[in-house]
Amino acid sequence: MSGRFVVVGAGTMGLGIAYVAAGAGYRVELVEVDPARGAAAVTRLGELWERGVARGKLTAADAAANRERLTLRAGLAEVAERPDVIVEAVPERLDLKRAVLREAEGRQPVLLGSNTSSIPIAELAEGLDRPADFIGLHFFNPVWAMALLEVVVGPATARETTDAAVALAGRLGKDPVVVRDMPGFATSRLGVTLGLEAIRMVADGVAAPADIDKAMVLGYRHPVGPLELTDLVGLDVRLDIARTLQAAYGDRFAPPPLLVEMVADGRLGKKSGQGFYTWKDGARS
Ligand code: NAD
Repeated sequence: MSGRFVVVGAGTMGLGIAYVAAGAGYRVELVEVDPARGAAAVTRLGELWERGVARGKLTAADAAANRERLTLRAGLAEVAERPDVIVEAVPERLDLKRAVLREAEGRQPVLLGSNTSSIPIAELAEGLDRPADFIGLHFFNPVWAMALLEVVVGPATARETTDAAVALAGRLGKDPVVVRDMPGFATSRLGVTLGLEAIRMVADGVAAPADIDKAMVLGYRHPVGPLELTDLVGLDVRLDIARTLQAAYGDRFAPPPLLVEMVADGRLGKKSGQGFYTWKDGARS
């Protein structure tokens, strides 16, 4: 199988999406405006493929082929027309995503997707010439390990586009749910609720972060606690989502002052080395 798959944004999610797309046989173009981030993402992908070989998950030949299929691009202008898929994974800001999607549409992809966690597809589609081809493709972190793909169907999304997104999920080894276009969809609306409440509990001094997490892991069988998950997702990302949900549903999603303060301090979670936990070499201490 071949095909061309373009990912815009080489952050936490973009690199994960690039990883699974290359693994599914696509020729992947990873578009990143920040050269240092782009280079770091390519290095990280190389490490992930090496780790896959070391763990017996893929052969050295497959790892080399995946690496071969990956190209870093400095902008969408460098991408040739008519790729099979373009998925944007730039930060969760409406104006930025709209601008990126408009430019991406100009490359005439067969399928245009957004990895937004919370912004309605209808809002992102404003300004697009072909909203019928546009759909939410919400992957989860880390993309290579998480089975779910939340497919978000906007009011203008064509039936064929939804079918193509479900087929894409299968090719990428993901299990899809198809949901209606409401802010926060089926996942972030519930997941962020838990995360925000856990942060309010830290501020209230209910228990230490590790004990709040442990309570949910042992008491509710969550695989990971809400504060550790917030660290993994990125506090800045969660703050952006909370603001989107607050605008849609009111103050029940108001970001707790502690979250705002931690983001302002640069305590963003795993990616900055400090959040509710201290992170070193990818592990929590
Ligand atoms: P991130 O900040 O780690 O990465 C975003 C990347 O986009 C950065 O490298 C940035 O330089 C790049 N970028 C910005 N403008 C660009 C442009 N015009 N062209 C190309 N690249 C550009 O963010 P992330 O955590 O990967 O999140 C990306 C999206 O995925 C957001 O919409 C977020 O809500 C969503 N999401 C995040 C998670 C998560 O766990 N982090 C999970 C699901 C969905």
